[in-house]
Amino acid sequence: MAVASVHNELRSEQPMIEVSNLTVRYNISRTGQTLTAVEDVNLTVNAGEFVTVLGPSGCGKTTVMNVIAGLVEPTEGTVLVGGEPVKGPSPDRAVVFQDYALLPWRTVADNVRFGVEMQKQYRGIDMTEKINDAIEMVGLKGFEKSYPRELSGGMQQRVGLARALVGDPRVLLMDEPLGAVDALTREVMRAELEKIIQGTGKTVIFITHSIEEAILLGDRVVVFKSHPGSVLEIHETNMERPRSERGAQGDPRYLELRDHLWTALEREATAAVRERA
Ligand code: ADP
Ligand code: MG
Repeated sequence: MAVASVHNELRSEQPMIEVSNLTVRYNISRTGQTLTAVEDVNLTVNAGEFVTVLGPSGCGKTTVMNVIAGLVEPTEGTVLVGGEPVKGPSPDRAVVFQDYALLPWRTVADNVRFGVEMQKQYRGIDMTEKINDAIEMVGLKGFEKSYPRELSGGMQQRVGLARALVGDPRVLLMDEPLGAVDALTREVMRAELEKIIQGTGKTVIFITHSIEEAILLGDRVVVFKSHPGSVLEIHETNMERPRSERGAQGDPRYLELRDHLWTALEREATAAVRERA
């Protein structure tokens, strides 16, 4: 069976993440002022869907993701995951960070183990096989005993991904995960990521500043605007999978959406810079 159709079968119209009228204000203790990071954000992500998020820096993308992760509380509005309100972090909503956030004194296997060792349901259970599976899934077999400092940036990010996958979360939250790796590694990892995620049925929110990456990975692309941060546009990508950068160059849908997103983001980034100046 083609990978694309497997993925579509795992997708459903069942909402997994429902962000409703979300507003987040931060208290700036230094000045005593409050900053509205995002205002009235509404976004529904269906089970098994891969949603990418683009927007100028500072428009609140990370804030929204942190609320879904349970790391930041809403000031107003609600966030439901699987129909339940988010009350704090959960292994069911794993986060992959841009700066990898690995523990330098631990081996690859022990960093991946960290993804499950805090969780009650795995206490007393031998997780070695699950850890090895996750390491193999991200292409790091043979590096189990290596330390993060011995690995390239791309490999370290694979460890971050394995750590997120090992607990078999329903939701994967990825905040510019490929932002710190070089362009070639980035393209290789994007293609691999698509392969890894397809067929797992996971619901993914993936923040990126690459328009190409957003279109190639996303079932839908969400564009944020700033001041205050909120959803500006949402686009269906409607392209066959697996997708490749080279293949997409000849696809009018890709070229049209890329052009549109360039224009929209340039406008938003210019507005954001003017406001700050
Ligand atoms: P993005 O990820 O789109 O770059 P963020 O969500 O990181 O945006 O930030 C949105 C706005 O909220 C920015 O103006 C940022 O400075 C501010 N902000 C983010 N986190 C905090 C915080 N913990 N305390 C105060 N202000 C914050
Ligand atoms: Mg951010």
